[in-house]
Amino acid sequence: VSVEQIVIGNEAADKLVAFLDDAHWRRVLIVDDPNTAEVAGDELSAALNAAGHTVTRHQFLERSDLLADQSALNAVRNRLETDEPDGAIAVGSGVINDVTRYATFLERRPYIAFPTAASMDGYASNVAAMQFDGLKLTFAAHAPRAIFADPAVLASAPKPMTIWGLGDLLGKATAHFDWRLARGLFGEHFCPEVEDVVARPMRRATQITQALCAGDPVALGELIDGLILSGIAMSMFGNSRPASGCEHHASHFWDLLAFRGMRPHHPHGLQVGYATRFALRIQRAALARIEEIAPPFLTVAQPSKEEAAWIGPDNSALAEVRRDKERALDAASTSAGEDLMSFANVRTLLDEAEQVFDEVDAALATAGFPLAVGFAGVDEAALRATFRYANRLRSRYSVLSLLESQRALKGIDDEIVSSTLIGDHA
Ligand SMILES: [Zn+2]
Repeated sequence: VSVEQIVIGNEAADKLVAFLDDAHWRRVLIVDDPNTAEVAGDELSAALNAAGHTVTRHQFLERSDLLADQSALNAVRNRLETDEPDGAIAVGSGVINDVTRYATFLERRPYIAFPTAASMDGYASNVAAMQFDGLKLTFAAHAPRAIFADPAVLASAPKPMTIWGLGDLLGKATAHFDWRLARGLFGEHFCPEVEDVVARPMRRATQITQALCAGDPVALGELIDGLILSGIAMSMFGNSRPASGCEHHASHFWDLLAFRGMRPHHPHGLQVGYATRFALRIQRAALARIEEIAPPFLTVAQPSKEEAAWIGPDNSALAEVRRDKERALDAASTSAGEDLMSFANVRTLLDEAEQVFDEVDAALATAGFPLAVGFAGVDEAALRATFRYANRLRSRYSVLSLLESQRALKGIDDEIVSSTLIGDHA
């Protein structure tokens, strides 16, 4: 893990100045926007000037709806070229971090993250989520050299942003179930230590949900810690498996529907938290049937007309996902018995993951994520399509792929959608 220092506390700005002194950065570019300048960028700039650093700034004009697109990227790259700083500081949340991360990566200069909202788990990430020509794609980039977060700054962020971060963190409950499922049925590499790096702050978040919703700075410090650790866990493991499962696939599916004009865009963490309430129920239903399942545990369906109506015409990316799944099936059939667990052991693995489900579900409800159709622009038809097609966008194994292979999806999605429609909001 290449992040050298993480500071969470009201001394964050002072520690940042000290870090730059140690790293001998003389010239620094601050990237922010009018909102994040008010809560942190201006003060940071003054502190760095006072400490003898030469500070230049790139301030985006947008107060909201800034996109991580080509023009934002070019703007920061141009500043890096003309100002020639030793490095940049991203003062902001998702988009400002992605743009600064990718621009500094392309210009071969380091950067530091100064989060202004506990809204997502990407601060420690080494990939940049960019949106070119409307399409959201992830590009290899670099992680920040260091992360400095001041809970008082996080507390001044708009309240919904904290709820997004909480949704992203609580979604790890179903991500971990999927990971264990892939371990048990396919022998996929599973690391309990890495899982614990994420699971501990996730469980903690269920205990401090009310304080988080009230904007308590101490609780916000714990939330940002958990979100940063989630990013660290992904770096440790080498991909997003420790932090992303079917609840994230649902969110990606909804992003695609939004891109296709079939529903409005909503923030990542809001979608993940909402999807998690359904994912918890789907996984519980699968666990209840685990002794009945039989190989193959994965089927690779050819694209259908109904599928295309939701995810668009077949393309090379979707075909690549199918090829990945076929390879996984082949590997599983040739290595059968080598590293696979008995059903009793699979059950034990999943039972452990399920132990947090009640607390996670209650915390999501407390934070305002409803167990109801129609939230975040997802109507009943879209929700049913999510259960069926969200696993077409990624090759990663999840409970949805298991249920599809067992032809058990239909009964379970009926069970969940109808219990939701009749108002079981418990
Ligand atoms: Zn996420």
